[in-house]
Amino acid sequence: MLKRDDHAGSAAGAATLDPGLVQAGAVLTIDLGAIRANYRLLRDRQGGGRCAAVVKADAYGLGAEKVAPALVREGCDRFFVALLGEGLALRKILGANPEIFVLNGLPPGAEAFCAAAGLIPVLNSEAQLFAWRALAAKQERTLPAAVQVDSGMARLGMPPYEVDRIAADPHAFDRIDLKLVMSHFARADEPGEASNAAQRRAFAALAEKLPAAPRSLANSSGIFLNRDDIADFARPGCALYGINPQPGLPNPMRPVVRLDAKVIQTREVPAGTGIGYGHAAKATVPMRLATISLGYADGWHRRAASYAFLAGKRLPFVGRVSMDSIILDVTALPPGLPEPGALVELIGPHQSVDEVAAQAGTIGYEVLTSFGSRFHRVYLGIDEGEATARLQTR
Ligand SMILES: *Cc1c(COP(=O)(O)O)cnc(C)c1O
Repeated sequence: MLKRDDHAGSAAGAATLDPGLVQAGAVLTIDLGAIRANYRLLRDRQGGGRCAAVVKADAYGLGAEKVAPALVREGCDRFFVALLGEGLALRKILGANPEIFVLNGLPPGAEAFCAAAGLIPVLNSEAQLFAWRALAAKQERTLPAAVQVDSGMARLGMPPYEVDRIAADPHAFDRIDLKLVMSHFARADEPGEASNAAQRRAFAALAEKLPAAPRSLANSSGIFLNRDDIADFARPGCALYGINPQPGLPNPMRPVVRLDAKVIQTREVPAGTGIGYGHAAKATVPMRLATISLGYADGWHRRAASYAFLAGKRLPFVGRVSMDSIILDVTALPPGLPEPGALVELIGPHQSVDEVAAQAGTIGYEVLTSFGSRFHRVYLGIDEGEATARLQTR
């Protein structure tokens, strides 16, 4: 991770360190080396098996353009996105080789686009399969596809009665190269839930009715549920990005994200001062306040009562989160601190993404995917792959 303390405390120091930081209010640091380490950990739980990566929603807000190539260097050759547009963008980033699966499947009329972009649709209904097969017949070629079956979540995938109809149709998969049969857990993060075992059984039974193909069931949490759930390959997303796949247990993943915001100004206020919009907080004693350059427009939940950290001290938010700023109680810091321009930690060694999510009554996924476009982004470990590649070609 960046040694943030090196330039915390001095506006001039920060300005000379990074021109991007001069323009932005906050710095998002993304450790690609940690993402790669997390990928290895998840893959190795499969006993030499393969492991896909879910990079939908711009790699959970962290930047698919940087994240996906880092995973390719780790040997990942199967990627999942949610939308055709995300798939097309990823194809441009990764070139022709990796398989790109589109989880939300084929919207009516999108078949030719999907085929031309070289994307593999996750066929979620009989109607999608028929439309894809019709295109294959029209173009007189074989088209790749995944089929998702609904093993008990009632969100996406063919319901059992559609699977039965397809199983009874000898031409259902004419000109279709079935690359994958998959399903998704509703409650993988609750290991004690009986529905997980029920979904496991339902998936096995439904997959039996379809042509032989690799199978995939587990998301990040599913990888830790039961080794059998990994099937031929797992589809982790959140755990790659450092979110705990086992809520309530110690997080086995390496942290990936660090978020620091710049101090704009400080002030002293007497007891009785109303603080921020709605005077939602009031000073009951004299306080020192610092205003930082981060707000709900950056994806920080407006209602989150949270903390920032500087010099090992916990600095509580005071009053409401504004669009572009947050007020901190810095009374606990030595006089003179923080200086304007100093960076305070919002996510990092003192406070995880999961903790920030809990404070806002949400999940780490939403914290990451809510990040706005105003952060100065710093990617660590970007050259690791090149260094390894050079070593190997000697
Ligand atoms: C998002 C998603 C995943 C990844 O889930 P995580 O919980 O982030 O690991 C896997 N499979 C499907 C179908 C998904 O929609």
